[in-house]
Amino acid sequence: MSQFPSLEKALKHYFGYDSFRPGQKQIVEQALKNQDSLIVMPTGGGKSLCFQLPAMLKKGLTVVVSPLISLMQDQVEALRNNGISATFLNSSINSWQVRHREESIRNGHTKLLYVAPERLLSEKFLPFLDLVQHQVGIAGFAIDEAHCVSEWGHDFRPEYRQLKLLRQRYPDVPVMALTATATERVRQDIIQQLHLQNPFIHIASFNRQNLYYEIRPKAKSSYTELLLQIRQAKGAVIVYCLSRKGVDELTLRLQKDEVNALPYHAGLSDEERSVNQTRFIRDDVQVMVATVAFGMGINKPDVRLVIHYDLPRNIESYYQEAGRAGRDGEPADCTIYFSYGDLKKIEWAIDQKSDEQEQKIARQQLRRMIDYAEGTDCRRTIQLSYFGEYFAGNCGKCDNCCHPKPTEDWTIEAMKFLSCVARCKERFGMNYIIDVLRGSKNQKILQNKHHELSTYGIGKDKTADEWKFLGRSLIHQGILEQSTDGYAILKLNGLSWEVMRRQRQVFLAIPTQKKVTQEEKNLKKAGMEVLYERLRALRKKLADDQGVPPYVIFHDSTLKLMAQVQPETLLAFGELSGVGSSKLSQYGAVFLKEIRAYRQEKGLSVATDNGKIETPAPSTTQLMSLHLFQQGLNVEEIAQQRNLKPSTIFVHLAELWEMGETVDIDKLVSPERQKVIWKAMQEIGNAELLKPIYEYLEEEYSYGEIRIVRALWREKQNN
Ligand code: ADP
Ligand code: ZN
Repeated sequence: MSQFPSLEKALKHYFGYDSFRPGQKQIVEQALKNQDSLIVMPTGGGKSLCFQLPAMLKKGLTVVVSPLISLMQDQVEALRNNGISATFLNSSINSWQVRHREESIRNGHTKLLYVAPERLLSEKFLPFLDLVQHQVGIAGFAIDEAHCVSEWGHDFRPEYRQLKLLRQRYPDVPVMALTATATERVRQDIIQQLHLQNPFIHIASFNRQNLYYEIRPKAKSSYTELLLQIRQAKGAVIVYCLSRKGVDELTLRLQKDEVNALPYHAGLSDEERSVNQTRFIRDDVQVMVATVAFGMGINKPDVRLVIHYDLPRNIESYYQEAGRAGRDGEPADCTIYFSYGDLKKIEWAIDQKSDEQEQKIARQQLRRMIDYAEGTDCRRTIQLSYFGEYFAGNCGKCDNCCHPKPTEDWTIEAMKFLSCVARCKERFGMNYIIDVLRGSKNQKILQNKHHELSTYGIGKDKTADEWKFLGRSLIHQGILEQSTDGYAILKLNGLSWEVMRRQRQVFLAIPTQKKVTQEEKNLKKAGMEVLYERLRALRKKLADDQGVPPYVIFHDSTLKLMAQVQPETLLAFGELSGVGSSKLSQYGAVFLKEIRAYRQEKGLSVATDNGKIETPAPSTTQLMSLHLFQQGLNVEEIAQQRNLKPSTIFVHLAELWEMGETVDIDKLVSPERQKVIWKAMQEIGNAELLKPIYEYLEEEYSYGEIRIVRALWREKQNN
């Protein structure tokens, strides 16, 4: 710990962040004191950092237990991009790789190891762990998704129960358990099952401050609205539908409208699902249309919009699903399109359940969901109260707080509606009543002679949807009853008669459209959008070069800062939140170049010394690679020894060369191969983007080799 004057400095160095999220600092401090802990934070709260930073500051290996293979890989990639030596062991790698990684661990080169519980507890692995403990020490165990130990949780995994063995075997190694599950029962279970000793407990608020919640009425025009929302979204979008059929239809429709969308549901093959998911994570495709099966195992932090195109079943699942938006803490929107038609579908599904108790619970939950959708109170207050958390309201980030619905006096309309129900002798459903009110020539009405009623045709001034809105609202205000025998016959009650006798008024909250947020306006005003988009495109290219998701390079928030601050030196660039020392050396120069190009095109001042961007000094990690290279190791060997990818080593060496260090280029790329690559660059006429060159060469030459030759090319251009 001594190398950093404060935890904030260490945070900036390794992760590039300026400040801790709520709770993180205390948690890290406790971890450094080797205290057991239980961390409960909502999705996106920043749990990983709570064990990753201590891992960097403590001696020895930190072992992270994680149930999901795809998540493991993502986390390790993100860590490596921060220059942190992390690795994982699971069934996706071969025995040669396993041996190699184990060796790197035993040599103390690896700080963080991700491993699935079944491997960790296997008879072969435990002796290895003993060896590690003996040779380099185990700094701590982090148990991610710790609710998996509990039968009360939503994702019980029996193998998690065995994890208490760790406590018995390594009584002095601290354990940190982490989860996003909110219930008290699960928390107690985690403490008991894992034998946590006098743990430090941190329970964060479940209020996700960066999310904007809204409900929109679902009508015929909703598809157009949805399309507009997607087109305006600055990034990835998830649209949830209730059924596979719904998913397929909507995907097709969006694709026809030239939206880059893919489906995800249980009807697709494993392979298709996994391909679609990866394309979404990597921003190759903007929109994922999915059933709620999608989203459990991904931690894409930069989802900007989650739409529920059908009504969610209950508030808890809604909270979790909508919570997949904005994990990076940046503003994101969560919209539900709500229609009474959907309600019918869910009610029907509930009726099919055979267990009466289950039916009852499902109905209660649905009831609360409807109250939420129809309510005029702050959405956050309702959501959080569901988790037993008190929230005073007026969050300023939900439709009800931002655009309080004007309440209108609809007493006269209600009187018309109710008396029509009375005159039809309380024997019909909603649509029939509305037909009568609107003077329909429907056969059934004529047969029943209802065209002779005094209420026939008195409601032509309102649309059927408006009448329906009133009817539903009367039901939910308890002013009208609806039979539950499947026929949904409307019946009057005491309150109905009060209205008809003018003893009670009826008010309706009329839904309104969402306005453009202040932040969107600000961004537009400054014309920064254009630069932001350019930086996004650059990020995507860099990510593709490395085969990683874009957020691994920089988060949206960091790109936004770049677009706002428009730094012109590496020093200023390094100060942006999200730029740590490793990312500064890897990406600083390229992004500065893009910003500079933008400013020049706009005719803005550009700080230069002779038109050259200040060259960075080599970073420690680059120098380590260089050192090994000069000792005669080849790229593969350096990569192995440093537990990095060969492509990263190529990046190091190319950049070192560009900084003026001595690197024997011919040893990296043979002169014959250099020539071919050079020729391709001449053909293309530009070498800034590697991908076109890579493709031009029909993938016969690696990105690393192309990168090296590009360094030569750049030198030629500058002279
Ligand atoms: P969780 O596991 O709790 O859902 P993560 O650990 O994935 O959350 O963190 C969510 C996102 O927030 C990640 O993209 C992470 O990099 C980012 N993050 C974490 N801590 C900070 C911080 N102190 N400042 C800025 N961003 C942070
Ligand atoms: Zn609110």
